[in-house]
Amino acid sequence: MIVEFKNEPFTNFSDPANKKAMEAALASVKEQFGKEYPLVIGGEKIVTDKKIKSVNPGNVDQVVGYASSASRDLAEQAMQAALATFESWKLVDPATRAGYLFKAAAEMRRRKYEFSAWMIYEAGKNWAEADADVAEAIDFLEFYGREMLRLAQPQPLTRIFGEENRLTYIPLGVGVIIPPWNFPLAIMAGITTSAVVSGNTVLLKPASTTPIIAAKFVELMEQIGLPKGVINFIPGSGAEIGDYLVEHPKTRFISFTGSREVGLRINELASKTQPGQIWIKRFVGELGGKDGIVVDANANLEEAASAIVASAFGFQGQKCSAGSRAVVHKDVYDVIVEKVVEKTKALQAGPQDENFAVGPVIDAKAYESILNYIEIGKGEGRLLAGGGKAEGNGYYIQPTVIADVPEDARIFQEEIFGPVLAISKADTFEEAIRMFNNTEYGLTGSVFSNDREHLEYARTHMHCGNLYFNRKCTGALVGVHPFGGFNMSGTDSKAGGRDYLLLFTQAKVVSEKL
Ligand code: GLU
Repeated sequence: MIVEFKNEPFTNFSDPANKKAMEAALASVKEQFGKEYPLVIGGEKIVTDKKIKSVNPGNVDQVVGYASSASRDLAEQAMQAALATFESWKLVDPATRAGYLFKAAAEMRRRKYEFSAWMIYEAGKNWAEADADVAEAIDFLEFYGREMLRLAQPQPLTRIFGEENRLTYIPLGVGVIIPPWNFPLAIMAGITTSAVVSGNTVLLKPASTTPIIAAKFVELMEQIGLPKGVINFIPGSGAEIGDYLVEHPKTRFISFTGSREVGLRINELASKTQPGQIWIKRFVGELGGKDGIVVDANANLEEAASAIVASAFGFQGQKCSAGSRAVVHKDVYDVIVEKVVEKTKALQAGPQDENFAVGPVIDAKAYESILNYIEIGKGEGRLLAGGGKAEGNGYYIQPTVIADVPEDARIFQEEIFGPVLAISKADTFEEAIRMFNNTEYGLTGSVFSNDREHLEYARTHMHCGNLYFNRKCTGALVGVHPFGGFNMSGTDSKAGGRDYLLLFTQAKVVSEKL
């Protein structure tokens, strides 16, 4: 009997025992820096000459590890392994498949601090952000396992006399899994195991900045006994193997989370039918966001300001759910701006392993791009906090607040994926909602109001996949807030929800005359 799904609790680091455990895990993981991690193809470990070097973004002298990097030939070998394994894996009883996810969740729960420590070093998360990421990974395993059990039950159909009808959800085939670096454990494990538990086999190409945490997850899946060839692990470059696999005629679906630019490219490549291809490939994509928080004239201003700061600067704003805009009613604008600036200035930047509130951004490319946006923003509004680099031997940027930003400003329209907040003024509540909607994206949003009519107006008119009332716009919980967005934010796949596994299955109906 499987108990009902419940979210994994977050660790309280003010408890000295937990703090000590985290410090011990950080020390132990540091001892393991610089190791090499192989590709895993059909269970075989393959070491390549070409490597991806994974560096700690908060201390660029530290090499977290080296991941082997797959060539096109090895990607093809992985495809063949996945195709061969699919023939047996698709016949494995769904309850057995779910069982692997439950075992993986149990193992990950036992090694929670260790997984957090890898992420702290490799992705630049502070302790709470890393802990939440591991908790979410565990949630995905537990949730999708249960979802598969639910879908394997007899499905309700209209009954007619003289016939027995049965609908079953069968898998699709081989999927290419391309996760992001910003939730390098949770989303990586979530998009991999949702496909796997549904009976598909996969080619997992982790983000090039965070391949080591993915390698640790692949090791864990091997350890709990997942059959060889179900997850084939192939770090590598997008240009060399990403496009090749997306275009491959035997690829049945692509599950991608990442930038809008790459997502649209994959969607385009995948939509072209290749010689020998006998299906329409599915593309499941979670792309960017230009999310925001609307503050009404009668809102609780203290809570609204705290939520704006948490949504804008959590994990340095590197979430597709990040609240990078605040649209504030003119009557409370000055107070909100003042409170947001004060709370932002209180955030300290520093090494993430020492658990500073603001750690580094992921790499040199992000660093340059964010600093460039800050310069653009200085010309588009009034700089009130931050405004440039922060101290440290890594990619540190000051949390930056720019006020009086007009709607057509680039920092109001474009996803920055960094610690930059644009604040804009609205004359009325309705005007604020219209401004919030003035974006190509539509992932998350919040509204702070104590007016029931205004909340109902927002419920109808704010166009985003995940809308929150009187709370921050980040931190969706598996099962509680199925996650996914509208417009250029993606295919609204609603990860962690009841519709999710349907994306990786097809329904077969068998009718027998009695
Ligand atoms: N699910 C995360 C949240 O609600 C964001 C995921 C992402 O940034 O890709 O904050």
